[in-house]
Amino acid sequence: MNSNELLNDHQIITDLIGNAAHCPAEDPRAARWATEALVLASAAELPILIEEAEGVLGRITHDTTCRWCNRQPGASIPVGSFWCTH
Ligand SMILES: [Zn+2]
Repeated sequence: MNSNELLNDHQIITDLIGNAAHCPAEDPRAARWATEALVLASAAELPILIEEAEGVLGRITHDTTCRWCNRQPGASIPVGSFWCTH
């Protein structure tokens, strides 16, 4: 892999993470973009971008599934949830 390809990968992954981060979690594209970024970052072995993609994906997953944050009556705050307290 030459440096141009690496730069392109980096740019593509950064764009995907940025798009996913600015997309409402309930938009199905958000999880798709974050997942794609994670796959590409893993393939390109870019640990910082893997971490960022995982972070965005974690937030999206939380926002779409957390009953406590969606104010479901009777739901309790999940134990050890990073996203509920941020
Ligand atoms: Zn929550």
